[in-house]
Parts: sequence; C-alpha cells; structure tokens
Amino acid sequence: MTSALEQLAVEIRECRACPLWRTARQAVPGEGSAESGILFLGEAPGLNEDLQGRPFVGAAGQLLDELLAGIGLDRSKVFITNVVRHRPPDNRDPLPEEVAACDVWLRRHLEALRPRVVVTLGRHAMGKWLPGESITRIHGRPRVVAGPAGSDNGVTVFPMFHPAAALRSPALRPAMIADFAALALYLATAPILPTEAPRPADQMTLFGG
Ligand code: URA
Repeated sequence: MTSALEQLAVEIRECRACPLWRTARQAVPGEGSAESGILFLGEAPGLNEDLQGRPFVGAAGQLLDELLAGIGLDRSKVFITNVVRHRPPDNRDPLPEEVAACDVWLRRHLEALRPRVVVTLGRHAMGKWLPGESITRIHGRPRVVAGPAGSDNGVTVFPMFHPAAALRSPALRPAMIADFAALALYLATAPILPTEAPRPADQMTLFGG
C-alpha cells in the first residue's frame, strides 16, 4: 500500500506550479519518517540534491547528519524537506512567488506528519512562520505559532541557523551544537500537544533506543 508520504512525493515530482521545474533536473520532495516527530525544513535543493533527488546530501547535509548523530538521531528517523522542492538556477534564493507556489506541499507534509516540532534551517524556512524575525536573536528556542494559511492547527517551530551558514562561518558551529542539544531537551521534556500524531516510541527514539 502506498503511504501518504509516498503519494505526496509522487505528486510533488509532477508539480508544475512555478517555473523552477524547467531548469531543475528533478524535484526533491523530501524524505524520512514521522518517527521522532521532527520535521526539518531547509531552503531549496542545491546541485547534489538536484542530481540525487534527495534533500541535504551535500556538504550541508553531512553537517546536518553529524548534528543529528550528536543527539542520538539518524536522518531516517526525522523528515527532511525544503521550502521549495526544485533547485533554483545557480542556487539563487527562491523568489517569493516560488515559495508561495510550494506552500501547498508544506501544508500537505504538516498534515501527513503532524510533527511535534518543525526545525527551520535558515531564514527562508523561519520566514514561513516568523517573517521579519532575526535568526541571530531567536535561534535555539521553541515557539508555538499559528499553522500555515488554510490549516487549523498551530505548530511548534524551532528556528536554527542553516548548516551551510555554519560551514561558511565556523564560529556558528558551537551555536548549532547547542541548539541541537536544546532541541533534544525540548523533545525529552515538553508535553505532547493534542495536535501532534501519537508517537509512543518518542523518547526511546530520541536517545537511540
Ligand atoms: N540546502 C538546503 O536548504 N536544502 C537542501 O536540501 C540542501 C542544501
């Protein structure tokens, strides 16, 4: 039987809602599972992601994998996707209309996953819920925010720097490590909200059980 996430990936691969599909090799729908209750939201696929059809498989992805391992998590236990699902030409920033066109898939992923927390990586992902905020000021702390337009449920957002920023500026790396530790603490201690999918193995998974 096809799962909701697989069905969603099929639909995203066929998406023609903005022109990015014309220049990209393929869509990058996202991958992982609802198991840990964590949805990571990046910016957009880059070259490696465009080649492989998978999110965060280049240098930034390697750092993300290391940060996950640091809190006892593997990428297969979290879900990883991006604000836009096709690579922008020359890795330029996604345009507001491209981000808006891709919103439908974020909403569908939130409905399918009902995550405990959405970790936003970088300012484009943070801007989905907290536009105008300064990432330097608010990173590493959870915020309960309203759901995206058209959805009823609020969501807990956990803003973080983008791993690519920590690769460019190594001074950010300790902050990212601290933010992942704060995320682990949050997941271990925060009560589960009624909007989250039941997930009995939560705590065990987080600490490698
Ligand atoms: N950067 C992103 O924001 N997303 C990816 O999938 C890879 C790099």
